[in-house]
Amino acid sequence: MNEMIIVFYGELTTKGKNLNSFIRCLGRNITDALKDKFPKLKFEIKRDHIYVILNGEDFTKVKDILVRIPGILSVSHVLPCDKDINKIAEICLNMMDESKKTTFKVVTRRVDKTFPMHSDEVNRYVATHILKNRDKVVKVDIHDPELKINIMIREDKVYIYGKKYQGAGGYPVGIQSKALMLLSGGIDSPVACYMMLKRGIKLECIHFAAPPYTSSKVITKLEDIIHKLNFYQKEIKLHIVPFTKLQLEIYKHVPTSYCITILRRMMMRIASIWALKRRCPVVASGESIGQVASQTLESIVSIENCLTKPMIRPLACLDKIEIIDIAKKIDTYDISIRPYEDCCTIFSTKDPTTCPRIDVCEKYESRFNYQELVEECVNNIETRVYSLTDEENIEL
Ligand code: ATP
Ligand code: MG
Repeated sequence: MNEMIIVFYGELTTKGKNLNSFIRCLGRNITDALKDKFPKLKFEIKRDHIYVILNGEDFTKVKDILVRIPGILSVSHVLPCDKDINKIAEICLNMMDESKKTTFKVVTRRVDKTFPMHSDEVNRYVATHILKNRDKVVKVDIHDPELKINIMIREDKVYIYGKKYQGAGGYPVGIQSKALMLLSGGIDSPVACYMMLKRGIKLECIHFAAPPYTSSKVITKLEDIIHKLNFYQKEIKLHIVPFTKLQLEIYKHVPTSYCITILRRMMMRIASIWALKRRCPVVASGESIGQVASQTLESIVSIENCLTKPMIRPLACLDKIEIIDIAKKIDTYDISIRPYEDCCTIFSTKDPTTCPRIDVCEKYESRFNYQELVEECVNNIETRVYSLTDEENIEL
């Protein structure tokens, strides 16, 4: 008989009339993530859950992928059973044993009204069977059971599931429009990417490169990070900005204490133009308040002054330790700590101001024709597209 996985949606249920498009989006993401690797799977998309019918595919392997897909609250292994109350009770007893839990509750849904016992009778019968066989070891707890055993009596068969494997939560990628993400290759920005994706937002990434001061290995590092993110978004564009000339001009004309602020203001100007061109209504970064001089509240104000789009900062209030935990979970940490320098670190100064003033920034910026240099950067942006080949997909 055919085993299944039942997939429960995350926050989707709260979304009222948009529910249908959310379910379609999640259904598409699930089938996209699984269908090539597990060709025998079949999918049944319902209003408040999705069935993944295993057709002989391995439960654990499929489950391990499902729990990483944004928009999924939990998944459970569903065991099919004949419509025979003794067989049902036996499967539930085994489930209880395997779970190693001590309190339980049985919840039956009788879709097939011709089944001779009412839901409540099934609940009592099964619970009694478990208690009789495991007396003193387990108890029923109606209000807060450690294990909820669900019995679904359908026309074809009875389906039983218990243990819940927690999913990633959030929203399915693609239900929101796009953000232009500032991707640096450090620890933070890939984590910010993940958190944006988990809100259902699609990403295009922009990177400011300063060759030959920054090594081409930085780009390889970014490619490796993007490959990890391709699990969530099948195809990701990376826009590489040749930033060296503008950066050198900044260091020629601006006192060292203001260099990083002005540099970031230039990044914002370029990102604004590019976001407009790429139809991204917002930009996003991996900034975390107070982490470095350029991320104090005063710096944020002075830097954001040059941005014409709203900036989303998913990590704004997270500690570095929390960020590192997520980086490890999404497997970008080891890539991020490779030692190649970013354009900000290469030119970092000893005395960056933590309290820059907009009028002072403007005074320094008036010392050189940055508008022309910004335009030159934009005109020379190189775009690369990354997606997973089927083979790479299998290795995930
Ligand atoms: P780290 O883990 O070293 O803090 P980071 O990526 O957060 O890495 P920061 O210097 O803290 O680096 O930069 C803050 C944010 O600014 C980054 O998260 C990123 O969004 C953006 N940023 C910094 N440098 C670049 C760059 N070269 N290209 C694109 N975005 C950048
Ligand atoms: Mg940082």
